[in-house]
Amino acid sequence: MKQFISLLPINIFAFFEFLIALPQAIKISIENDEVKYIKVVCKDNCLLLKISSFLTKASIAGLTAGSFVFIKESFKDNQKILKHEQVHIKQEIKWSILFPFIYLYYYAKIKITKSGDPYKDNPFEKEAYEYGKVAPTKKS
Ligand SMILES: [Zn+2]
Repeated sequence: MKQFISLLPINIFAFFEFLIALPQAIKISIENDEVKYIKVVCKDNCLLLKISSFLTKASIAGLTAGSFVFIKESFKDNQKILKHEQVHIKQEIKWSILFPFIYLYYYAKIKITKSGDPYKDNPFEKEAYEYGKVAPTKKS
């Protein structure tokens, strides 16, 4: 509960994403791993993850916003991705309301300076991918 409150500003934003995902949600559960989160398993072709993939030009299987982790059905038990998303929750707890702004700052900076891939080279993503590597699933 304390964690949910510390993520409240982001959770308010995430709630709108939740409304987009809800019609295509298959299973919603509260998970308690390294951090507590609400896992929303969506259909593989769900609109929310399609939009995310379009915006990042990457194949997005999971998305974190506040206490919500949205994940495609075929990746619902993929520990590598779930660990990756939990790193984002920790980042959100650390940076609170500043998180989306700093994330977008790096995204824009990389894009404008053409210094790499705005998504994959984002320091927040690098940290999450680095951590996700330790999970015992095949590297994609
Ligand atoms: Zn990520």
